[in-house]
Amino acid sequence: MGFDVLGGITDAVAALDRNWRYTYVNRQAEIMARMPRQQLAGKVIWELFPELRHSAAFEFLHRTMRDGVRTRFEQFYAPYNLWVEVDAYPAADGLVMFVHAIGDRDDSTERYRALFESMRDGVIIVNDDGRYVDVNQSFCGMLKAGRERLIGSHFGEFIPPEKLNEAISAFADLRSGRSTPVDFPLRALDGSIVEVAWTSSNYLPGLYFCIGRDITARKQAEHERGLLLAREREARRNAELLNSVGPLLAGQLDAQKLVQSVTDIATRLVDAGFGAFFHNVVNEKGESYMLYALSGVPREAFDRFPMPRNTAVFGPTFRGEGILRSDDITQDPRYGNSAPHYGLPPGHPPVKSYLAAPVVSVSGEVLGGLFFGHPDRGRFTENHEAIVLGIAAQAAIALDNARLFEQAQWVQKELKRSNQELRRANQDLETFAYSASHDLQEPLRNIAIAAQLLGRHASGLDPAAQPFLDGVLSGALRMQNLIRDLLAYTQAARYAEGPVPRTDSGAVLASVLENLRARIAETGATVTTSELPSVSMQLVHLTQLFQNLIGNALKYRGKEAPAIRVSAVERDGWWVFSVADNGIGIEPRYKDYVFQLFKRLHTREQYSGSGVGLPICQRIVEQYGGRIWLESSVPGEGSIFAFSIPVHPSQ
Ligand code: ADP
Repeated sequence: MGFDVLGGITDAVAALDRNWRYTYVNRQAEIMARMPRQQLAGKVIWELFPELRHSAAFEFLHRTMRDGVRTRFEQFYAPYNLWVEVDAYPAADGLVMFVHAIGDRDDSTERYRALFESMRDGVIIVNDDGRYVDVNQSFCGMLKAGRERLIGSHFGEFIPPEKLNEAISAFADLRSGRSTPVDFPLRALDGSIVEVAWTSSNYLPGLYFCIGRDITARKQAEHERGLLLAREREARRNAELLNSVGPLLAGQLDAQKLVQSVTDIATRLVDAGFGAFFHNVVNEKGESYMLYALSGVPREAFDRFPMPRNTAVFGPTFRGEGILRSDDITQDPRYGNSAPHYGLPPGHPPVKSYLAAPVVSVSGEVLGGLFFGHPDRGRFTENHEAIVLGIAAQAAIALDNARLFEQAQWVQKELKRSNQELRRANQDLETFAYSASHDLQEPLRNIAIAAQLLGRHASGLDPAAQPFLDGVLSGALRMQNLIRDLLAYTQAARYAEGPVPRTDSGAVLASVLENLRARIAETGATVTTSELPSVSMQLVHLTQLFQNLIGNALKYRGKEAPAIRVSAVERDGWWVFSVADNGIGIEPRYKDYVFQLFKRLHTREQYSGSGVGLPICQRIVEQYGGRIWLESSVPGEGSIFAFSIPVHPSQ
């Protein structure tokens, strides 16, 4: 076949050598290529028409060159908006192709092609075998592959393996005439995943037309929204959980049970293999902690092991240095540095995931630590951390409460115990004083009688001995008085049985003044009173009070005739009585001294008495919950004694 012959045919003819260089073009080929043959000769086809690299032509021409087979194909050449039909034949040193312009194709085909290429969605035509027959540019973009790479490939090659079954069954549906929109992803040549929403239809017998829209961004947004929602749900669930834990813990005042509940709840919430609470108790060496509560494993599981020690792993928790979370504690640089085991002792429940939080009281004291373990790695999340932090805070408050409660209970018990002890001691003392004074009376009476008899029969007695006998007699009499007063004192505090009666203090005072009538007359005293109330007191007690106080006012009188005033006022729920006189007065520094048993400011020669009157008054008022005191006193001018009795007695 001569070149001239070829030059005359209407098809474009071009020959290419093994290096894809033009070795011949006919006239028609110059027209079609829009270049003169000088420009074409010796040039590589792919360099002159780079667009062809990503076309069916590239694939087919290579096949002819490589396999030495004839290929026929159609090719659209976009830059010239030209459809051609190509016949390629292998030749001795390359190939020869006959290119026929199909200008007689109608317009609509070209418009269809242009539309196909211009679509932003990926568009493919797949044959019955599931192989790509045609793909548009957008689809090539999605798979990051040239058209020639894709055409003839099976679609399954570009589906992530885990989605393949889904895609195959969707294709089977499509083939059997059910074309429902489906979503499944594509895997591009570079491995990236593109999420795609597909709409497909059976377009010609044995050909399927599918449009794939890239929904990666939407899926990503949905995914993120889902994550956010899940996180929000989780946060709400945590808050609810912690809220429900609060009252549960707050109600528990037994510290032992409390830490057990805390450990149980937290172990469950973080889904730990086991959990433990250790009290922050340090031994003398400053290293050991006492096991307190365990959850998820029987106590025996820890029996054989020493308490956790102040190692690099546990120390920070007991020092209150914050929460510690590890996906694999055995990989932590702090782990395994301590003798003797350098890590978990043999037989210890295995731990990889590790979560520990200090329990710190409001005062800042580290009460203990919550520890959680799991044999698998990476089990504890940020969320678990938040839960444990919340529970640790609640536990700290509850433990503080339990401790306060324990202390309050202890104080109350202690108070009750010491009150009982005091009462018993008082009773013992009273019984002793009573029986002693009672028993002493008898021998004393005998001494006094014997001394009197001796005096009557004193004719033979040495007159020098008379003063001794007088001494014995007066001593015996004084002792009798003392013992009588002491008896009165011990009896002053005796509770009368039954309810306390109402007593008209005005009437009591009148009867006391009647008793003291002789001394009042003798001293020329005047006694004035205000209106006096009824009080809840035993009559005998109020009588003793008035008798002692007015008796003293008469006894410790000054140079003037005694002027005594008895009055009562109501103040803050108390009746406050006062007895004022114009007597010798008392120096302020003795204001407490005079209320002590047997304490007096004068000799018996100056003023008779035994120093029991005011102590008796004190015992009486204290028995009613009241108090007695020296309100004011000026030596030489007079004194005011006051005592208080509750207006409404407590029982
Ligand atoms: P006694 O009167 O038997 O000594 P009291 O216990 O009644 O015992 O009083 C104790 C002391 O208080 C008296 O010795 C006296 O010194 C002082 N005293 C009590 N009442 C008065 C008073 N109205 N005026 C001055 N001193 C008083």
